[in-house]
Amino acid sequence: MEDRGWAVKEINRLKKEKNAVILAHNYQIGEVQDIADFTADSLALSQAAAKTEADMIVFCGVHFMAETASIISPDKKVLIPDLKAGCSLADTINAEELREWKKEHPNAVVVSYVNTTAEVKAESDYCCTSSNAVKVVSSIPEDREILFLPDMFLGAYAAKVTGRKLHIWAGECHVHAGIRPEDINKMREANPEADMLIHPECGCTTSLINYVGNGSIKSEDTYFLSTGGMINHPRHSNAKEFLVATETGILHRMRKENPDKTFCPVKEDAVCKYMKMITLDKVLTSLQEEIYEVKIPKEVALRAKKAIDRMLEISN
Ligand code: SF4
Repeated sequence: MEDRGWAVKEINRLKKEKNAVILAHNYQIGEVQDIADFTADSLALSQAAAKTEADMIVFCGVHFMAETASIISPDKKVLIPDLKAGCSLADTINAEELREWKKEHPNAVVVSYVNTTAEVKAESDYCCTSSNAVKVVSSIPEDREILFLPDMFLGAYAAKVTGRKLHIWAGECHVHAGIRPEDINKMREANPEADMLIHPECGCTTSLINYVGNGSIKSEDTYFLSTGGMINHPRHSNAKEFLVATETGILHRMRKENPDKTFCPVKEDAVCKYMKMITLDKVLTSLQEEIYEVKIPKEVALRAKKAIDRMLEISN
């Protein structure tokens, strides 16, 4: 697309004409974040989808997120600009595999990270995000077994913080699993004055919690934060430099909202190729042609919504 300015104007015109709203995840490319009405992490986007009065939602994120928006707002038209924008973590478990796992633990409560398909959510008791996994697990009676899926690192983090014994599905996100403790330690040594912001989905988290616990890493400037927390933290910190251990898309907003501070990714190539599939051109085509609509069968949507509603109740 040659004329970005024209595309932006056209997107804004179509948004008004069709009473549409654009929701973008923090890992989206900068120009998509810039045209969005709302940019946030998974939980905040679910809440925004629930509250909006628009007739149409253009969801700039990955497929399971658009599904969640459609489940929450079944009367709205939910569009995803590229159907191939999937998620390697959500792909690690399907509904059939979950049903088999449940058979092995018939009395267990199932907690699913929001990175799951609608069908997997429909088989779950609770959803959670990285912002509220600990809260959700803590809310379950101590005598109940818990199946936690599909992110093994977030599961390990929730187990550590709550002291609960969880059965954890061995799924991982290829982007976050690629950030290793060695990367963190190297960056810390090179930037001793910087705050280190770590996302609980990172593969490094469980070992880092141990290092912080035994004093090997200074705990006062290491923060375990959700993506939303990562955006907010620099506003209130006295530090001038920040090392960021998550997908690099989040740096766009951190830099934009804190122009006097410096942000450095722990790993330059921590990039989610699925998130980057959405472009300005595709957002425009999506609005023009009203493609690709994401619709969930009613019966699946109703059961999945229960798990999402339970999560939203705990987070409010
Ligand atoms: S960063 Fe990982 S968890 Fe997030 S959408 Fe991409 S593949 Fe899925």
